Amino acid sequence: DPIPERRRRVLLKLSGEVFGGGKLGVDPGTVRGVAEQIAAAVDDVEVAIVVGGGNFFRGAELSQSGMDRSRADYMGMLGTVMNCLALQDFLEQAGVETRVQSAITMGQVAEAYIPRRAIRHMEKGRVVIFGAGAGLPYFSTDTVAVQRALEVHADVVLMAKSGVDGVYTADPKKDPDARKLERLTYDEALRRDIRVMDQTAMTMCKDNGVTMVVFGMEGAGNVTQAILGRELGTVVTP
Ligand code: UDP
Repeated sequence: DPIPERRRRVLLKLSGEVFGGGKLGVDPGTVRGVAEQIAAAVDDVEVAIVVGGGNFFRGAELSQSGMDRSRADYMGMLGTVMNCLALQDFLEQAGVETRVQSAITMGQVAEAYIPRRAIRHMEKGRVVIFGAGAGLPYFSTDTVAVQRALEVHADVVLMAKSGVDGVYTADPKKDPDARKLERLTYDEALRRDIRVMDQTAMTMCKDNGVTMVVFGMEGAGNVTQAILGRELGTVVTP
């Protein structure tokens, strides 16, 4: 048999705000919309997804109100798993086969994180949803997105943003002179203190040659287009 050509493989990062529609908890309509956009692209592209959890808990915020940071971070990680299950449900309703892999073992709801199995799922056309971050306190799901992208050999990290359609020279909500950047290097982003993602994640991209596309969720079909490889938003390169 001829060896099949390897398909494009992407790592999509969906932050918690994408799930909550700006509120606490999960907004089913919003998640359904994202799932349908992913479903429209999966015939041609292998998709892995890292899910955030800021719509439930952020460890740093809880620890500011007096909780132990690590315990608060575990709450944050558990929140991401609820988002995973919501996304899994709407993806399956949209006809997409999925597997959730969790970095914290909870066999009743998710497989354990096993990278080679994740790759196998994608080769079979399944979307793999990674939950519970890295399973480690003091990390962010942005950093995990980069780590998982490297480990499953994704071609690109797609950062879906809510409320902004790329990287700007300044905060467009505050500065009328803010300009959207089409391209940017990690060095420039770090030097100009542009918070595309947290610094650990950016440094990891830079050191390991990962390209990232930062784009807005809001435009019709943007998630589909980003998965299919259209350069929208801002492309950040090493
Ligand atoms: N978290 C963690 N380790 C990880 C990933 C996440 O401790 O590897 C915790 C951390 O408390 C974080 C929360 O989970 O605040 C939710 O993740 P994140 O803030 O990255 O979600 P997002 O901003 O993407 O919604």
